[in-house]
Amino acid sequence: PGEQLPHDPTLPTVVVLGNGWASTAFLKELDNQGYNVVVISPRNYFLFTPLLPSVTVGTLAARSILEPTRFLTRHMKRKTEVYEGEVYEVDPHKKTVRFVDNSEIKGEVSGTEIAYDYLVYAVGAENQTFGIKGVKEHACFLKEVWDAEKIRSRIMDSIESANFAGQTQEEIDRLLSFVVVGGGPTGVEYAGELHDFLMEDLNNWYPELTDRIKITLIEALPNVLPMFSKQLIDYTMSTFKENKIDIKTKTMVKEVQEKKIIAQNENKELVEYPYGLLVWATGNTARPVTRDLMNRIPESQNSRRGLLVDEHMRLVGADGVFALGDCTATNYAPTAQVAAQQGRYLARVFQKLHKKEQLLHELETAKQGGAEPAKLDSLANAVIRASNIAPFNYSHQGSLAYIGSDKAIADLPMMQGNLAAAGFATYYFWRSAYISQLFSLRNRVLVGADWLKTKVLGRDVSRA
Ligand code: FAD
Ligand code: NAD
Repeated sequence: PGEQLPHDPTLPTVVVLGNGWASTAFLKELDNQGYNVVVISPRNYFLFTPLLPSVTVGTLAARSILEPTRFLTRHMKRKTEVYEGEVYEVDPHKKTVRFVDNSEIKGEVSGTEIAYDYLVYAVGAENQTFGIKGVKEHACFLKEVWDAEKIRSRIMDSIESANFAGQTQEEIDRLLSFVVVGGGPTGVEYAGELHDFLMEDLNNWYPELTDRIKITLIEALPNVLPMFSKQLIDYTMSTFKENKIDIKTKTMVKEVQEKKIIAQNENKELVEYPYGLLVWATGNTARPVTRDLMNRIPESQNSRRGLLVDEHMRLVGADGVFALGDCTATNYAPTAQVAAQQGRYLARVFQKLHKKEQLLHELETAKQGGAEPAKLDSLANAVIRASNIAPFNYSHQGSLAYIGSDKAIADLPMMQGNLAAAGFATYYFWRSAYISQLFSLRNRVLVGADWLKTKVLGRDVSRA
């Protein structure tokens, strides 16, 4: 990258919270000549979440789907500050954010405050547990890269413990029970990956145990994947049946204990499911910092789902704050696709805001210099045009999910309705769609190499 413009104290400061889908798309698209940009996030990389389920069984290495945020900001026109820190307080009245270094190694300063002119609030969401007893203590989640690595290690731990000398038959069956709660795309994709690992690798290394491994997916609603079309739901259910993944629909988990979960089935009976490993994927809820922000402007923020924004992604009730992605409560699903489009949209809004500032400055100078009325008119019209910012408009590109055994499902919007596709060909479409969406060539090479390695050498069963 060439020489970057330095920090300019005369320019407005844009503080960006988070470096997930929304913030990364924003930073990628933003021309920051007119702004000083500061990024704050507890992790120093972007995570490509659609491929995260593949990390739980080692189809992909974790680092292949991470991209350090500095790889992106070093290409921006003006130097951008990137801080690894967790924001715990946003004051929309004082226009400040407070953040801390929550990592293991800290310097003498491990907490500070920063002021913003504009705030891009995109901290995502945290895992929903509905306050169900025992979930946080005993289940694994699947949201961050460390979650996927923990699951990978625990799969092998359950298997090695089942293999331990002298184990009772009942205990072997419990340890080899892999339960997934939540039949949304996260739960389904993880169950599919786990099935692949079982059939393609564990089969070879633990032949005496693999027949006893059980994968159970528990879903409260009558169907898995409610956002997909009916035929794709049926296709997924029948593929899972073929793959011996047991789907328990209309079953609501009520409590999680150390070795079993207690659920209510459709007949309102309480049933127990012993498990060796439990993965909990029941969607999103607002982070504490987001709830705190809502409480600071209670007259404008009263949605339990997340932050209320207007059609320009401005946070209702706060000046200079824009909120994007999973932390907001909109009519859109909390997906990467929505978050990325909002990020790109906001970057264009900032371009217009900068343009407007420049034109206002020109108009003022022209007025003071006694410019002709025609010139002043044309500048004033340009200011009006730059002030006219279109609302955010989401364009749905389709939904894709991997369901295991080299099969994927896709709902793709077509001119006249929707195309539902499923099977092997869709799987190759799924692969090419995601590899092309990866943000850098480096990630594309790493993911491609991992897929090849898995095909040729198989997955690693070390419990590292
Ligand atoms: P995130 O991407 O979650 O980013 C939030 C950012 O905020 C992170 O950088 C985080 O570190 C940071 N942060 C958190 N707390 C703080 C704090 N206190 N202060 C500062 N920063 C903070 N969507 C699809 O469209 N297609 C898919 O195939 C798909 N697959 C998925 C698979 C999995 C396993 C998961 C979990 C999700 C998947 N999604 C998919 C959903 C998608 O990942 C989310 O909708 C998307 O990440 C939302 O983007 P975001 O920027 O709002 O939040
Ligand atoms: P989700 O909200 O889509 O699904 C959670 C599921 O858990 C729901 O079907 C719900 O009925 C069920 N559930 C809730 N409480 C339960 C209980 N006590 N017992 C049993 N079942 C219970 O969550 P997700 O799968 O984590 O996805 C979150 C978001 O990320 C969604 O918007 C999703 O579209 C997106 N995502 C997309 C993809 C993809 O496109 N391939 C992959 C992963 C995630």
